Amino acid sequence: MTEKKIASDNCVFAFKKGLEPALKIKSGSEVTLITRDCFSNQLTGNDDRIEDMDWDRINPATGPVYIEEAEPGDILKINIIDIKLADQAVMITAPGEGVLGHRYKESKTKILPIKNDKVEFSPGRVYDIEPMVGVIGVAPANDEEISTGTPGRHGGNMDCKLIRKRAALYLPVNTPGALLAAGDMHALMGDGEIVVCGAEVSGEVKLKIEVLKNRAFPLPLVENSEVIATIASAKTLDEAVDQATEKMADLLVDNFGFDIHEAGMLLSIVGNAEICQVVDPLKTARFSLTKSELNLSDWQQLTSAAIK
Ligand code: CA
Ligand code: ZN
Repeated sequence: MTEKKIASDNCVFAFKKGLEPALKIKSGSEVTLITRDCFSNQLTGNDDRIEDMDWDRINPATGPVYIEEAEPGDILKINIIDIKLADQAVMITAPGEGVLGHRYKESKTKILPIKNDKVEFSPGRVYDIEPMVGVIGVAPANDEEISTGTPGRHGGNMDCKLIRKRAALYLPVNTPGALLAAGDMHALMGDGEIVVCGAEVSGEVKLKIEVLKNRAFPLPLVENSEVIATIASAKTLDEAVDQATEKMADLLVDNFGFDIHEAGMLLSIVGNAEICQVVDPLKTARFSLTKSELNLSDWQQLTSAAIK
């Protein structure tokens, strides 16, 4: 199989139906997306100012990928096979941006070198990288157009740090082909992404994309080897937490035969309401549960691509 790669100049700034595909693939194929950082690689030195940037090029997402078997109502399973990062990341602070924005009178740019899988914040503060994908989504339902800066049920700018190598993300298919695009990778990010960015970095992400037919479970949902997490985005973090929690309860009740009392009590002792980000136009929360709480063979069956 020849390796399929999409160059970073094939990018979109909004998720919507009808976009011209950058590539068509079959379900089960692997594809590598070469991605710019969330500033379209416009900040390459500490003296580069965000005021001088072209703001029309913020949050590029490489794609869209058209998956031939994907029809509205299907579920897209996106396996993150590998992530490779460039050799430097960038962060900014700016007046009005993020939780501390009211305390900044001017913007700042900081380059963080990446070497041997470590990112250097400052001399003596060197961290193992934890590469993640900030923006990954599909065309939304209806005919709306959703900026790549906004998260939602279609995915988008969820900034969920569980979306990493060896994780699988599940998204709804809303239009033929699904039209998947991704970008905004981070070398490292804390829950909350409080100043409005992580260690923003360009790179490549290799995905294996599968279509699940005749399945229904709450979306978006991400799993790794340890946990599954339902993801929700809303105007306030309170609403996002509530929605993520409801989705996990729905998963237990609708897909795993729990009654709502048992589900609620179980989630209240071993489940975790967690924050993805608090800085985007909608806030994103997740509710995570250790996978071993579920019947794993049922889970496997629910999430494997083989059509039964
Ligand atoms: Ca982001
Ligand atoms: Zn980002």
